[in-house]
Amino acid sequence: METFDYIVVGAGSAGCVVANRLTENTQHRVLVLEAGGTDRTFWIRVPIGYGRTFTDPKVNWMYEAQPDAGLNNRSAFWPRGKVMGGSGSINALVYMRGLPNDYDDWAAEGNAGWDWNSIKPIFSRIEDSGTVDGHSTGKLHVTDVSEMAHPLCKRYLQACDLLGYKFTKDFNGAHPEGVGIYRILTRHGFRESTSIRYLRPALSRPNLTLRTKVRVTRLTFEGQRVVGVIYRDAAGAQIEVRATRSVVLSGGAINSPQLLQLSGIGPKELLEKHQIPVVLNAPAVGRNLQDHLSISYFYRSKVPTLNNELASWLGKLKAGIRYVLTRTGPLSMSVNQGGGFIRSDANQPTPNLQLYFNPASYTTSLGLGRKLMNPDPFAAFLLSFNACRPTSRGHLEIQSADPWVAPAIYPNSLSTDKDIADVMAGIKLLRQLANAQPLAEIINGEILPGSEKQSDEELLEDFRARASTVYHPTCTCKMGPDPLTSVVDQRLRVHGIEGLRIIDASVFPTVTSGNTNAPTILVAEKGAQMLLEDVA
Ligand SMILES: Cc1cc2nc3c(=O)[nH]c(=O)nc-3n(C[C@H](O)[C@H](O)[C@H](O)COP(=O)(O)OP(=O)(O)OC[C@H]3O[C@@H](n4cnc5c(N)ncnc54)[C@H](O)[C@@H]3O)c2cc1C
Repeated sequence: METFDYIVVGAGSAGCVVANRLTENTQHRVLVLEAGGTDRTFWIRVPIGYGRTFTDPKVNWMYEAQPDAGLNNRSAFWPRGKVMGGSGSINALVYMRGLPNDYDDWAAEGNAGWDWNSIKPIFSRIEDSGTVDGHSTGKLHVTDVSEMAHPLCKRYLQACDLLGYKFTKDFNGAHPEGVGIYRILTRHGFRESTSIRYLRPALSRPNLTLRTKVRVTRLTFEGQRVVGVIYRDAAGAQIEVRATRSVVLSGGAINSPQLLQLSGIGPKELLEKHQIPVVLNAPAVGRNLQDHLSISYFYRSKVPTLNNELASWLGKLKAGIRYVLTRTGPLSMSVNQGGGFIRSDANQPTPNLQLYFNPASYTTSLGLGRKLMNPDPFAAFLLSFNACRPTSRGHLEIQSADPWVAPAIYPNSLSTDKDIADVMAGIKLLRQLANAQPLAEIINGEILPGSEKQSDEELLEDFRARASTVYHPTCTCKMGPDPLTSVVDQRLRVHGIEGLRIIDASVFPTVTSGNTNAPTILVAEKGAQMLLEDVA
């Protein structure tokens, strides 16, 4: 049987980092197993291609959550990357470290070493661009696109200013609170990812083996120690491989807990229900799920928006030519341009709302995926928000012992009073922004939800009817000291099991205030460092 020192399951945002860092030491033989295929495709490299990969089953697991009572029993679409680079190859590119208190809260839950002061230096290994509080020397290029932002973003920032929300140059700098323009993960107009900057350069090392289009279906054990994995290759063959030091799960917040449960690590009753031999009764596997929920308010505009540039074929052609010749323009950008980390009222201890200003709109294709290249054929834009730190917790569980059956995801949205209070504050703020003069003077009516909806009840009902995930599931293999309520310890070792770590977004104790890619990459850098320190 083939034997390696480490086996990494999943070459996503986190797995690519782990693969690179482990193989820097030439003594380590590392195998990376990835269910998806290559990320060398046009729609992955071009930022606007996010609109295509969003619903492309060739690169996307295309999960569907269970009917969610908090969202009028709607079943939400949950895309996840199934390709080299994982969700980092199909995401909206926004780069947000999160707020210092996010990490301080992780440490306060009993996870020593994860506080902001301890983890902050790690970002300089990740980012290669200077930020306002220092110059970094890492691998990923974080691009400041403020010069390219659509002119309407200026009005958005002026409206925020009128309401007292001040400009910040860099959400990742010394002053993350405020409103500004999102920085994105691109280089020379192309998508930047951990696959491109961490995994690919490491592939020339003789001690790294990557196998794509292979699906890990089970962990193998000797007693309570994980000794390897079983996977299916593209031809359907079942192959077993061994790891002498450690197996690392980097399958993401849906697939890592699924694989644990399929392998007999999970809530005992669930495993018994599916006749899976119990290796360890681990009640927290799949629990604690957190995500960000967002809603968009759509406005007709009296002045041109991005719709005017992209809706017609001629406009598309022009944008395409500009992109090919200069690697700039709307095709090189994220859909999210204006942003914000703000407190809805002075009593909030830290920013409780994240804002988005998008100088385009897609009401004519609502429900049809992300038709970013086909915006509405009239001038319009949208304002959105999500609560930074929701307190609702959902869960996921396998529906079958068959690894090809997707797990059932129960988001349990809006199940706490705090989350409803944040939603009401966010809705009111969007309306206040739209009523502030710099935006009000160019608005030609609210398309959605529509100005006839005014009462709290109507607006909350509209939120339940239209809100959607912003694709940030986390915490399903939560890090913490107590094996009853968490899955991994502060060094990301699975409680009660030897030879097994989890390094991906599933280990967050709580969701960070902003987008989750940068924090996941941080977890991967720190996780890899700990693997190297502890000879597992
Ligand atoms: C549509 C979308 C938009 C987003 N927008 C943003 C954004 O703008 N900014 C931001 O910061 N974050 C964004 N995110 C979230 C961010 O991309 C994720 O939080 C992050 O990529 C998670 O990294 P991960 O390593 O935990 O998992 P992933 O990157 O999802 O990696 C998991 C990998 O494991 C593989 N895998 C899973 N199971 C198996 C198995 N059994 N065998 C073999 N391989 C397996 C998967 O195929 C995948 O490649 C977005 C996500 C999505 C889906």
